[in-house]
Amino acid sequence: MACIEVENLRHAYGSRQALAGVTFHISQRELFAFLGPNGSGKTTLFKMLSTLIPVTHGQARILGYNLVHESSAIRKHLGVVFQHPSLDEKLTVLENLRHHGHLYGLWGRSLRGRIQTVLDHLDLGDRAGDLVETLSGGLQRRAELAKAMLHQPKVLLLDEPSTGLDPGARRNFRASLARLRDNDGVTVVLTTHILDDAEGCDRVGILDAGQLVAVGTPDELKERVAADVVMIATDAPEQLRMKISQQFGYESILLDRSLRVECRQGHEFVRDVITAFPDEIQSARFGKPTLEDVFIKLTGHRFRGEEEQHQ
Ligand code: ADP
Repeated sequence: MACIEVENLRHAYGSRQALAGVTFHISQRELFAFLGPNGSGKTTLFKMLSTLIPVTHGQARILGYNLVHESSAIRKHLGVVFQHPSLDEKLTVLENLRHHGHLYGLWGRSLRGRIQTVLDHLDLGDRAGDLVETLSGGLQRRAELAKAMLHQPKVLLLDEPSTGLDPGARRNFRASLARLRDNDGVTVVLTTHILDDAEGCDRVGILDAGQLVAVGTPDELKERVAADVVMIATDAPEQLRMKISQQFGYESILLDRSLRVECRQGHEFVRDVITAFPDEIQSARFGKPTLEDVFIKLTGHRFRGEEEQHQ
């Protein structure tokens, strides 16, 4: 059954179009990622789904409620994790959870029970008494998640939840999300500019310049690049591109100073192309397609999200 149904959702900030009409359905108990580079519209979409920006163009339903005029009814079913930390660092994890529970009208035994459950599900039981400021980045994100899950939301929305985490902490965080889906039956929707995050999700929607360019499981998306991908580093990309086209019949895309060629039997092509043009090639490597290759194939340009983050 569809948990989130969105038809032709659009949003503009003045004359700048941030979402150019996106349509998608997300099922209950799905772990779904919107993957896109900076500026692709992820945060805008997240804000609309979490009712922070009103829907003025298009249709959106969450759990059957219409986002246009039933947003307050939706809110109590949503758990939201923002990009910026919302925990009070000077309080312990437990104190943060207690205060948050009070805001949601939870008290006494039922609050204690909920706190115990979220701490258990997120493997935070032994850190409950620690000040938030003493926790690692990964544990702080997990505590954010515990807070968002306290009122038993059916849908969890997270905006760039693993930004700033190292790869190990990201993996742990993804495992926590998968456990919440499995144990609590929540639908998890996150935005990310990190390819690895999307790889671990049930389905991925690729956003570029406010458009949803593809939706599918990571494997389905990669099948769209029905070939190996060969990257060739060269000082003379334009000439080499022409020569490869003439000699091998492959069209390539120029990305920075590299040529990207899709072909069958990539390992043989690497050998043949180096043999044919040994002086013009600095390096050539082939690999199975990644989600970045899918992105390049669909948009014709490189996925910049992660690199920009590290600049
Ligand atoms: P992402 O989260 O993928 O980086 P955003 O949703 O933040 O993308 O932004 C999408 C587009 O909308 C970008 O071009 C961005 O510059 C623009 N934008 C976002 N917020 C505002 C705002 N408050 N005012 C004007 N333009 C904005």
